[in-house]
Amino acid sequence: MNIPLINLKFQYRTVEKEILRGIKKILKEQKLVLGEYCKLLEERIADYIKVPYAVSCANGTDALILSLMALGIGEKDEVITTPYTFFSTASSIALLGARPVFVDIEPRFMNIDPEKVESAITERTRAIIVVHLFGKLCEMDKILSVAEKYGLFVIEDMAQSIGARKDGKMAGSFGHVSALSFYPTKNLGGIGEGGMILTKDEELAKRLKKLRVHGMDEKPYTHDIIGINSRLDEIKAYALYAKFPYLEEWNRKRIENAKYYSSMLDGLPLILPDLEDEGSHVFHLYVLRLEERDELKEFLRKRGIQTGIYYPLPLHLQACFRYLGYKKGDFPCAEEASMKSLAIPVYPELKDKEKEYIVKSIRQFFKR
Ligand SMILES: *Cc1c(COP(=O)(O)O)cnc(C)c1O
Repeated sequence: MNIPLINLKFQYRTVEKEILRGIKKILKEQKLVLGEYCKLLEERIADYIKVPYAVSCANGTDALILSLMALGIGEKDEVITTPYTFFSTASSIALLGARPVFVDIEPRFMNIDPEKVESAITERTRAIIVVHLFGKLCEMDKILSVAEKYGLFVIEDMAQSIGARKDGKMAGSFGHVSALSFYPTKNLGGIGEGGMILTKDEELAKRLKKLRVHGMDEKPYTHDIIGINSRLDEIKAYALYAKFPYLEEWNRKRIENAKYYSSMLDGLPLILPDLEDEGSHVFHLYVLRLEERDELKEFLRKRGIQTGIYYPLPLHLQACFRYLGYKKGDFPCAEEASMKSLAIPVYPELKDKEKEYIVKSIRQFFKR
């Protein structure tokens, strides 16, 4: 067998006709950037997450950068976040001249540990960026209450977690502003790069709309603030709009696959993802943890099963962040997770016999 970590071709087949129809229409009309389909997509996603305002942009990293810009975060400010995430959660903070302040993860879900946030707050702290890692919602009640106590903004990096929810409340609707990525491999992935910012704050939404077009006023070529160029293409918005109706079903299949793995791998010397609160984890990735991670990766590779390591080096140990003064041992839970984590295929179109083969192969590894 040959099982990739993700196979986007299956998904594309479902929507191919519709997307090609849309591309043709858009090319004929030549309204190519920030037009009616960007607007339709914004309305759709805002309605789904149940927040009033959505602002599309070029990618998820820009969504984070624009969020921080709109909140006025910059030099001398500190922003608290997790060291165990994709790079741009923290690079966006640093790019604006602010200081990323890391707080260790809790070992169960590998999300930022809410109990440790308070001790990292200083007079300069302005915001907390939480990441619903691998698709699992953070403990938002605790985060929001600390943030409220100290008057901090909460930004949700929901790049991996569109559709996750707790008691009907959607990821992206908890914080002041949320950043979404439509990178092709995400749970709602486009036909190229794409991103979106969500907020309940009308003023913030207005600022975001200005910032994504160079900070330009309604009067053309007039600027009272400096923004960036981060528009979404109509073709890409159309493709996302066409895929959106399938998102719930795709997430449901990811959850089913995760449940299958967790029941079939139970009893092995592995830490499996926790399945409590169904729906609060949309399994962007299904991540196992074990001491012999590299050996299992190689064992599965030889059997045609592709796996992935998310993330091999926590951000506090990245060379580019050396200036922040962190060292090995500062965040033991993140460091341990980076040594033990292994993602196995969990994409919605996995076939039963592929899942069975993956389980059988992992069981064989422990019998060897
Ligand atoms: C993918 C991702 C991003 C960045 O999104 P891009 O669209 O690739 O710029 C940010 N944060 C997390 C957690 C991600 O997974």
